[in-house]
Amino acid sequence: MSSDYINPDYIRYEDLDHVYGESMFPGSLFLYTKEENEFRTNLRNFIMDEIAPLVPEIEEKASFDLCLEAYHRLGKAGYLTFSFPKSIGGQGKGYVYRTIFGEELAAVNSAIVVTYGASANLFAAPIIHFGTEEQKKKFLKPIMNGELLGAIGITEPSAGSDAVGGMKTTAIKKGNVYVINGEKRYITNGSRADYILLYALTDPNAPRKHNGISAFIFPTDTPGFERVKDYELAGRRGSVNSQLRFHNCEVPAENLVGGPEMENKGIKIMMYGLDGERCFTCSQYVGIARTAFEIATKFANIRVQFKKRLRDFEGISFKIAEMYAKLEAGRLLMLRAARMLDNGLNATKEVAAAKFTCATNQMEIVVEAMQILGGIGYTKEFPLEQLFRDSKISQISAGTVEILKFLCQREIYKAFNLK
Ligand SMILES: Cc1cc2nc3c(=O)[nH]c(=O)nc-3n(C[C@H](O)[C@H](O)[C@H](O)COP(=O)(O)OP(=O)(O)OC[C@H]3O[C@@H](n4cnc5c(N)ncnc54)[C@H](O)[C@@H]3O)c2cc1C
Repeated sequence: MSSDYINPDYIRYEDLDHVYGESMFPGSLFLYTKEENEFRTNLRNFIMDEIAPLVPEIEEKASFDLCLEAYHRLGKAGYLTFSFPKSIGGQGKGYVYRTIFGEELAAVNSAIVVTYGASANLFAAPIIHFGTEEQKKKFLKPIMNGELLGAIGITEPSAGSDAVGGMKTTAIKKGNVYVINGEKRYITNGSRADYILLYALTDPNAPRKHNGISAFIFPTDTPGFERVKDYELAGRRGSVNSQLRFHNCEVPAENLVGGPEMENKGIKIMMYGLDGERCFTCSQYVGIARTAFEIATKFANIRVQFKKRLRDFEGISFKIAEMYAKLEAGRLLMLRAARMLDNGLNATKEVAAAKFTCATNQMEIVVEAMQILGGIGYTKEFPLEQLFRDSKISQISAGTVEILKFLCQREIYKAFNLK
């Protein structure tokens, strides 16, 4: 048996002939419509030609400017318009398309996908849904075209998992402006964003903070805005993540998302935004897990030990089967949640279940993939060490796995009508 197989002393990444997305077997494609699959194929071809060549340098230099270059290339090719409303020149596509987009980009690089995601998705999606027509025209158009960059600002020093209860940033109305004071932390794109979808207390004395929060479109050229620092992250090298402060920043009243009737109703916008954001983040985890799975599967087909290919040992072949099942289980939960959101259904528990499953499965898949590669998986000669560093955040940001499990069970009891 051993003579049938070549056992290169040194397997290089190129030896795998890895093609991104080759594990999208007919069983996976079958879940999507013909148009969705066409969108995926065209997008993947574009990413391979125009985006993938930028990735090694983004990673090596942790270059946000190159991430932006990738974002602008996507914009110039018209790839940022799909999720924006037709009324401003977009294509009006929903969450399923967003997840396809996120998966394909994340399969190649995480920093680009979060730069895109924070702007065209997390900043834009709640404004698409709740914004006034003027807000959509004025603020969404340049984001849709990739000219300007957006971010979302919820987290604060004492407002992490308890984002509402711990919120301290205030926005107090004075005439026709709101005066903003406070601090936000860990904001993706933060120091480089042109606009932040900012949540603040407009009624700090409301008996329940839930009834005192509003959402604003905050232009970062507002006097009093301070970029305190950018954090150095374990992974997603090339993305920007910032600590920001607001000192008596005056924002025009017309920047209140949804207009005057949405004052103190920001929680509705936040909850809508968080379900969509979490559904989108699942696609990043599926994309990363998919690449790790493909690399490990192909590596195990080449590497020989004890005169057998690794894949011929049950200890390895079972790992391959389990990785595949975890990857596709995550995809199914994500897709169900995305289709529910596209149909205007409440999907809080489905999104939560999808997010903690996709995040945990991704982490496990990446760790197993590294294990299958052995020593070389821990070096920079294969992208697995990068995928490993890029993975952990899935269990923390946009709701930790613990908080998502809490939300999920709460919704289950609600659905059972059990108090
Ligand atoms: C790279 C990165 C990007 C981010 N991007 C953004 C962004 O763009 N915008 C934004 O607003 N925020 C962003 N965040 C913030 C992120 O959403 C928060 O870090 C996250 O919600 C957790 O909050 P925390 O860090 O304060 O942790 P904490 O809330 O202090 O939690 C610490 C630990 O305690 C656990 N815990 C807390 N409460 C409970 C409970 N009730 N039951 C069980 N366990 C609990 C948590 O699960 C966690 O394990 C980002 C964070 C990072 C690291």
